[in-house]
Amino acid sequence: MRQVTSFNPPVRTLMGPGPSDVNPRILSAMARPTIGHLDPAFVAMMDEIKLMLQYAFQTKNELTIAVSAPGSAGMETCFVNLIEPGDKVIVCQNGVFGGRMKENVERCGGIAIMVEDNWGEPVDPGKLEDALKAHTDAIIVAFVHAETSTGVVSDAKTLCNIAHKNDCLTIVDAVTSLGGSELLLDDWGIDAVYSGTQKCLSCTPGLSPVSFSEAAVNRIQSRKTRVQSWFLDLNLVMGYWGENAKRAYHHTAPINSLYALHEALVILQEEGLENAWRRHQSNHILLREGLKALGIGFIVEENARLPQLNAVSIPDSVKDEAQIRQTLLNEYGLEIGAGLGNLAGKIWRIGLMGYASNKKNIAHCLRALQDVLN
Ligand SMILES: *Cc1c(COP(=O)(O)O)cnc(C)c1O
Repeated sequence: MRQVTSFNPPVRTLMGPGPSDVNPRILSAMARPTIGHLDPAFVAMMDEIKLMLQYAFQTKNELTIAVSAPGSAGMETCFVNLIEPGDKVIVCQNGVFGGRMKENVERCGGIAIMVEDNWGEPVDPGKLEDALKAHTDAIIVAFVHAETSTGVVSDAKTLCNIAHKNDCLTIVDAVTSLGGSELLLDDWGIDAVYSGTQKCLSCTPGLSPVSFSEAAVNRIQSRKTRVQSWFLDLNLVMGYWGENAKRAYHHTAPINSLYALHEALVILQEEGLENAWRRHQSNHILLREGLKALGIGFIVEENARLPQLNAVSIPDSVKDEAQIRQTLLNEYGLEIGAGLGNLAGKIWRIGLMGYASNKKNIAHCLRALQDVLN
């Protein structure tokens, strides 16, 4: 066998759709000694994580925890726990991630009613209203708050309002919004939400913060059928994470990853949630002005743009966009994102997420783009 040596990653600046640059404080928190997942000191730290996640999500929801797996597992947690076979779910799709919601509904034995909008545009509340009129037996409305595939934010408050008026619970993907732009769980009436650690929290990937309202918990507790997934069944997970739980062994928590999340949330608390939102917005404007000078424009109307994910048109002069990204990576250590699905080859996705949303990164990115485009 070849003699393999330690892996030392190259130095990169991560300005794609996630992961984002991880704050060194988080990396050093992760390197602290591993302790037992039932150790009282660890359990006390988990309670602090819950408290800080409630702040980040702006919720009083008791059931606010981190699923021990990436954002996609948080997505599954919401769907497998809330949907039973035969349930009708309205799924609003305006990009890649809404398509994954449909997959989830169908794999749970549910019926997905699709409300489609053009990629690059927000979810249209009028279309949701029409779908709910046509399907009065729907029980859940699901949509993506911040579509990372297109750089679009949808009006979650209005969509949740419409859902509740029609007696539906709401499942919202907030993977990219958490910590990066306004997200008010309780005020907006979000019943089930999932996020990720590697986007605007600038933590290492592999955990998914989730939160469930009382109405969602009631639905889960009054299921007629067992949750199809043993690992993600919240009735079981709560035996470990629950407030008055016995802290029974369910699975071994990813101890050091949770140290990392704890530190990421301490950093967010220090900055202040609203200050973090403001920083993402002002850096977005700085990048926008710099790109304008290079002749690069956005694909999304100004009022629906995500500050943390800038979806921009690739200039006509570029013949091989993959080559440009390759050069940025190899010669400038800079990672930006490619387009997905329908938008592959047409757009770049420049992330300004969490710790990576700073002036130094913007200057580096603009300079590098200017060089390679010449
Ligand atoms: C990144 C992302 C996901 C998936 O998260 P993973 O951690 O990659 O599983 C889901 N939804 C949106 C909107 C995302 O940006």
